[in-house]
Amino acid sequence: MSCTFETLGLAPSLLRAITEQGYTQPTPIQERAIGPILAGHDVLAGAQTGTGKTAGFTLPMLQRLAGKADTRTSPARHPVRALVLTPTRELAAQVEQSVRTYGRHLPIRSCVIYGGVGMNPQIETLRKGVDILVATPGRLLDHVHQRTVDLGKVEILVLDEADRMLDMGFIRDIRKILALLPCARQNLLFSATFSEEIRRLASGVLRAPVEIEVARRNADAELVSQRVHQVPQERKRDVLAQLVRSGGWNQVLVFTRTKHGANRLAEQLTRDGIGATAIHGNKSQPQRLKALADFKQGSVRILVATDIAARGLDIDALPQVVNFELPHVPEDYVHRIGRTGRAGRSGEAISLVAPDERPQLAAIERLLGRRIPQDSGIAPLACAATPIPARQPAPARQRPATPLRPASQPREVPGQQSPARRGGDRRGSRHAAAPVDATRTPRGRTHEGHGEPRFTPRPAVAVRVARPQRKPAAVPALLRTAIPSINEL
Ligand code: AMP
Repeated sequence: MSCTFETLGLAPSLLRAITEQGYTQPTPIQERAIGPILAGHDVLAGAQTGTGKTAGFTLPMLQRLAGKADTRTSPARHPVRALVLTPTRELAAQVEQSVRTYGRHLPIRSCVIYGGVGMNPQIETLRKGVDILVATPGRLLDHVHQRTVDLGKVEILVLDEADRMLDMGFIRDIRKILALLPCARQNLLFSATFSEEIRRLASGVLRAPVEIEVARRNADAELVSQRVHQVPQERKRDVLAQLVRSGGWNQVLVFTRTKHGANRLAEQLTRDGIGATAIHGNKSQPQRLKALADFKQGSVRILVATDIAARGLDIDALPQVVNFELPHVPEDYVHRIGRTGRAGRSGEAISLVAPDERPQLAAIERLLGRRIPQDSGIAPLACAATPIPARQPAPARQRPATPLRPASQPREVPGQQSPARRGGDRRGSRHAAAPVDATRTPRGRTHEGHGEPRFTPRPAVAVRVARPQRKPAAVPALLRTAIPSINEL
C-alpha cells in the first residue's frame, strides 16, 4: 500500500489543511518522520530546505499538541508547549507561517519571535498565550532575560537547520535555552550535515532517537547546468543585464559578496530598467519580507542576495542563479547553486568570474572535482577579459560531465560538508549525511552512558567530502551537469 497522509495517521483537521495546500502525497521525509513523531519518539533527521521537512515536523507536532489541548485553562495562561529554534529570521517566519497554514483548523496558537524588530509587539503576543513558539535563539534569550517568556512547560523542542545554527555561532545560546526546558520532552533535530559538533549536540539533546535521512530534494542537481563567463569586474553588470534580457529571464537569484554590493547592483539594475531588489542582513525584517514577496510574485525579476540572507529562503523552482561574484568559501558555491534545479526542474547556474577571482574558481573546481565549463558566447561583451588558463574545449550540448569514479563508489556530497571554517568544529570530521533514504530505529544504535542514551554515528551513512585535489578527478554525482551549447546566449 502506498503511503498517504491518511495512512500516516494524521487527524482529519490536518488532512483538510493538507488538501487545501494541494499536497497529494507525503514527501520522503514526511513519510518517515510523521509516524515516529506522532508516536512520541525523538528524531534525528538529515534533511534540508526543499525536502518538505517543515511539514514533516509541524503536522505531527500540531496533532500531538491538539490531542492534549487544555481547554480548561484560559488562553492567556497557555504556556509555551512547543519551541522551534531556527537560525534565521526568514526561516523562523516561514516555519511559523507553516504552523498557521497546517494548523488553521485547530485551536492552537503560534507566534514567531526574532531580532531586528521591536520587542513590544512580541511581548504582547506572548502575553496572550502561545502554544507553539518559533524563535531565533538570540531574541528568545532577550525575552528570557526580560522574563517575558516561560519555557518551563515545553513538551516538544525542534532544532531546525541545526548545522546552520552552529555555523552562525548559536551553540552557546542553544545550550542556555536547553537548560531552561523541562527534562521530560520530545526532541526533534533537523540538520543538512553532521559534523562532530552536531553529533555532540544531538547526543546531549536526543534520547534514543529515530534516525532519518533523505536525499536532497534537489539531488537531481544534475539538472543544474553550470557555466562560467570570464568578465572583468566593471563589465559584469552589462553582461548580467544582457543575459537577463536575451534569455528572457524572469526570476533570477543573484549573489554578491557584500551587502553594499547587493544594494548597489539592485539599484543599478533598476536604473537599467530591470526590476531588482536586494536582501541582506542590514535590511529590516519588513524590508526583507517585502523583497522576498516582490520577487516571488514577479514584481521584480532579480533578487540580489548575500549568502547569509539567502539561507533558508523558500523559493521553489528557481530557474536561474547567477554568481555575480564568487564566494570566498567554496562550499557556499554549492549552497548557492542548490537554489536552482529543485523538484525535478532544470536550472541554470552562471558565474561571472573576473580575473582576480581565479583562485576562488580554482578552489570551487577542486571541491567539485571537475572544471566548470566556460562559455565564450559572451566574449564580445567581455572585451578585455583575460582568458582563464586551461580552458576546456567547447562542450557539446547536453553532454554529461564524465564521471571519473566508478558508478559503484559512494556519492560524494561536497555541499553537505561541515563548514568547519565558519566557527564550526575545527577538529570536526568532514563527514556528511549520505543522500540515501533510510529510517532506522535506535535499537542497537544507542548506548547507555551515564543514564543518557547517546547517538552513535553510523559510518555507513556518512560520506567523505571530496578532498581538494590537484587535478580534477571524481565528479560528485550530485553535481554532474548537463553542459549547454556555448551559443545559447
Ligand atoms: P521545506 O523543505 O519544508 O522548506 O518545504 C519546501 C516546499 O515544499 C514548501 O514550499 C512546501 O510548501 C512544499 N511541500 C511540503 N510538503 C509537500 C508535499 N507533500 N507535497 C508538495 N509540496 C510540499
